[in-house]
Amino acid sequence: MADSNLTSDAPLTTDVAVVGAGPVGLFTVFECGMLKMRCHVIDTLEVIGGQCAALYPEKPIYDIPGYPRILAQELVDRLAEQAAPFVPVYHLGQQVTGLNRQEDGRWRLTTSKGQVIDAAAVIIAAGCGAFGPNRPPLAGIEDYEGGAVQYLVQRREDFRGRRVVIAGGGDSAVDWAISLAELAEKIYLVHRRAKFRAAPESVDRLQRLTESGKVELVIPYQLAGLDGDGHRLSGVEVADLEGNKKLLPADRLVPFFGLSMNLGPIADWGLELDHHHITVNPATSETSAAGIFAVGDIAHYQGKLKLILAGFSEAALASHAIRPLVYPGEALHWEYSTTRGVPEVPPAAD
Ligand SMILES: Cc1cc2nc3c(=O)[nH]c(=O)nc-3n(C[C@H](O)[C@H](O)[C@H](O)COP(=O)(O)OP(=O)(O)OC[C@H]3O[C@@H](n4cnc5c(N)ncnc54)[C@H](O)[C@@H]3O)c2cc1C
Repeated sequence: MADSNLTSDAPLTTDVAVVGAGPVGLFTVFECGMLKMRCHVIDTLEVIGGQCAALYPEKPIYDIPGYPRILAQELVDRLAEQAAPFVPVYHLGQQVTGLNRQEDGRWRLTTSKGQVIDAAAVIIAAGCGAFGPNRPPLAGIEDYEGGAVQYLVQRREDFRGRRVVIAGGGDSAVDWAISLAELAEKIYLVHRRAKFRAAPESVDRLQRLTESGKVELVIPYQLAGLDGDGHRLSGVEVADLEGNKKLLPADRLVPFFGLSMNLGPIADWGLELDHHHITVNPATSETSAAGIFAVGDIAHYQGKLKLILAGFSEAALASHAIRPLVYPGEALHWEYSTTRGVPEVPPAAD
C-alpha cells in the first residue's frame, strides 16, 4: 500500500481524489482503477476502513454479497487487496479541509497537514463525516486515552485477564460486555438507568452472565471519576443518582456513549445538502457541483439504503460517470471484468 504520510509542498496530481477510506472509498479505488483512473485517498483516521475498522472490526457482517459471514476488518483487508493493483496513494491522519475549483475545471483539495492534491474529479466517500466518540466529562481522561481508556474495541485480546468497566446502555455496551466476559477477569457494566436499550436476547444473555459473577451490573450509576497515576488506571469512580460514590477496581474503561458525527468542512463546500447528507443524482452519484461525486453513507437520494453494498454500486456508477472527465473524447470500450481482467494502470503523473 502506497502510504504518504509525508506532505509535499508541490501539489500532487491525480485523476481522482477520494475523500474517505471507508469500505466504499476503498471499493471506489478499485472501480476507478478498472477504468484506468488513478486515485489518491485521504482519511482523517490513521487507518483505512472507516466505520468497519474503527467501530466494529471484530463483528461479523452477513450481507456482503458472496460472503455469508465476514468480519468487518477482514472485509477491509480484502477491499484494500482488491484496490492494491491500482496503486492508490493513501494520505492518512489528515482531514480534507478545502476543496476549490481551478480555472481549468480541475479540483484542488487541501488537507489539515497542508497537503495539496490536484484532481480531475473528486469522489466524497466520507460516511457520516469526521466522527469521534462522545467523551464522558471525567477530569484527566485524555491522559488515559488509547491505553486504559478506549472508546472502541479494536483487539479483544487487549482485555484478556483485565478488570473492565464498560459504560453505556445500548447495543455496543451490552454486546461488548458479553463478548469481553469470555476473556476478561471481571466486567462491570455501568448504566445510569435500570433498563438497557439493547436487543432483548442480548439483555437475556447479559442477565445470565451476571449469575456467574463474571459480569456485575452497576445500575443506576454513572461515571464520576478516574483513579490512577495518569497512565495506569486502578479504579473507576461511579455515583448513583443521589450522588453516593463508590470505587470499582478496574484497569480498563470503555465508555460507549455514541459517536458525534460532524460533516466538518464538507458542509462549507457549497454542495446541496439534505439533513447532513450530500444530495446526489442516483444515476451517476454526481452532486450539485459538476465534477464532484458522493458515494456511500454520505450520499443521499430518494430510497437510499445506508448499506455497504449500496455504496459499492454507487462507486461503480460514479467512476463510470467520471471517466469522460479524465479521458475527454475517448469512447469507453466497456467489458466485463471476466473478459478484461485487472488492467495495467498508466504511470503516475507525479
Ligand atoms: C456497529 C455497526 C454495524 C454495522 N453493520 C453493518 C452491516 O451488517 N451491513 C452493512 O451493510 N452496513 C453495516 N453498518 C454500516 C456500514 O458500516 C456503513 O454503511 C459503511 O461503513 C459506510 O461506508 P463509507 O465508506 O460510506 O463510510 P465510513 O465507513 O463512515 O468511512 C468514511 C471515512 O471518511 C472519513 N472522512 C470523513 N470526512 C473526512 C474529511 N473531510 N477528510 C478526510 N476523511 C474524512 C472518515 O474518517 C471515515 O474513515 C454498520 C455500522 C455500524 C456502526
